[in-house]
Amino acid sequence: MNGQMMDFPLTITSIFRRAETFFRAREVVTRRPDKTITRYRFGDFADRTRRLLRVLQDLGVQRGDRVATLAWTHAHHLEAYFAVPLAGAVLHTLNLRLHPDDLAYIINHAEDRVLIVDASLVPLLERIRPNVKLETVIVIGHDGTVKDAVDYESAIANAEPATDLPDLDERAAAAMCYTTGTTGKPKGVLYSHRSIALHSLAICLPDALGIGECDAVLPAVPMFHANGWGLPYSCAMVGAKLVLPGSHLDPVSVLELLEGERVTVAGGVPTIWMSILQTLESGQRSYDLSALRHVLVGGSAPPASLIRALDKHGIKVLHAWGMTETSPLGTVARVPAALVNASEEEQYRCRSKQGRPTPFVEIRAAKVEGLVPWDGQTMGELEVRGPWVTSGYFKDDGADRFTADGWFKTGDIATIDESGTMEIQDRSKDLIKSGGEWISSVALENCLMGHPAVAEAAVIAIAHAKWAERPLAVVVLKPGASATADDLRAFLAPQFPKFWLPDAFEFIDAIPRTSVGKFLKSALRERYKTYRIEA
Ligand code: ADP
Repeated sequence: MNGQMMDFPLTITSIFRRAETFFRAREVVTRRPDKTITRYRFGDFADRTRRLLRVLQDLGVQRGDRVATLAWTHAHHLEAYFAVPLAGAVLHTLNLRLHPDDLAYIINHAEDRVLIVDASLVPLLERIRPNVKLETVIVIGHDGTVKDAVDYESAIANAEPATDLPDLDERAAAAMCYTTGTTGKPKGVLYSHRSIALHSLAICLPDALGIGECDAVLPAVPMFHANGWGLPYSCAMVGAKLVLPGSHLDPVSVLELLEGERVTVAGGVPTIWMSILQTLESGQRSYDLSALRHVLVGGSAPPASLIRALDKHGIKVLHAWGMTETSPLGTVARVPAALVNASEEEQYRCRSKQGRPTPFVEIRAAKVEGLVPWDGQTMGELEVRGPWVTSGYFKDDGADRFTADGWFKTGDIATIDESGTMEIQDRSKDLIKSGGEWISSVALENCLMGHPAVAEAAVIAIAHAKWAERPLAVVVLKPGASATADDLRAFLAPQFPKFWLPDAFEFIDAIPRTSVGKFLKSALRERYKTYRIEA
């Protein structure tokens, strides 16, 4: 017997109507390219989004068509986040830090018909354009210099707001992001209305980000990085004020917004918070961060030392794990009820793990021999499933990424303990395989970054005649600080088995970053590919 509840579709349209109906007075704040701040309300956003929807319809955008964006984090981009899916089309956010050849490949692969681009990114577009087929280009902040382009502002001004919002199937595609393709070609992940609606709800749960109408949320993460971590949709759903930093993710700009807009929740990768910490520690200026409840940190593992140091400045880290393929939220490291009275030490240990899955996401870890026990010790590849986890890639079933029983193989190596708390040990390609044993580069890095002289550390595998691979630690010292390889090895020694300790240390000025601000280990591997460690 079936239940009798309505089969009411879970769509972005519902989220939009809610923002438009109940939260008209809530603000959307944007930092413009010249750093000035502009603000409008969800009521203005809704009117402009309906106009953009009309513009897209008049351009002939059909259901399922891909409409790409090449844009920073601002209110116009937010309008596209909604107008494109409201039209039944697919919002394809392009990563503006990619090489033009990769962007051209992605635009062609996705078969994007329309592109909405920031005027400041037109020079990048010009490098791509000869290699792609785009029917229409819409420029935000158009100064008339782009041939055959539609000017976003005048198109919106001239369009009547669309009054009827198309009825949509919740399973229809709403948005798409390509993985950065560190291994092989980038792959398209296609989100549905349903997955985005459910993911938006999950983010807002008290034991996830706990966002509500009275919050002011700053995504210090580009809107092309896994749907801006879902924050734009969640904030519109609950009516939280959105504070959009434009292209200004330098520490002082972010700190000014956190203070000036009384931000309560922010999100960003660890390197953003590392640079914010350095700015705060330089003591040049103090910032009133008393409104800030917590900052979501994910994308790579924040060292426990970073979590502690930020706490001292009133920035409480809420650590989460996710992937483009998981929309992105997968697990959150909330201190469980059983540990609320545990020692400070134990709580920090818990907060630096990746945590337990959100409702409807399930996890397990496997080795070739089968599933690994939840003992907090045995490493295996993390597998996930859930309603906002991908089941394939665009025009590519990605068969090698799925188990026979339909779980997604993340490529992350993890342990899971008795309480279901997951800890990432490494990406499988970064794991160091020494004499048949696995060494976690993440654990070594995070410990090294707890040394008072160390600003950044990355540990990579170096080929070794006897052990197959051995760890090399690449270290950036804090300005004016000093430490030798022996000092650092002695610092690590009490925490790890002897065979985990790096054989060599290299000191450099900066660790290269990926397009979304993570440490780019492939560049280090390339740099040290002829490095020799004596057998
Ligand atoms: P990219 O491959 O460009 O990094 P994603 O942003 O989708 O693309 O990255 C997902 C990967 O980032 C995960 O598979 C994992 O390796 C890593 N990651 C994400 N969050 C965390 C975290 N909290 N701790 C450790 N690693 C993380």
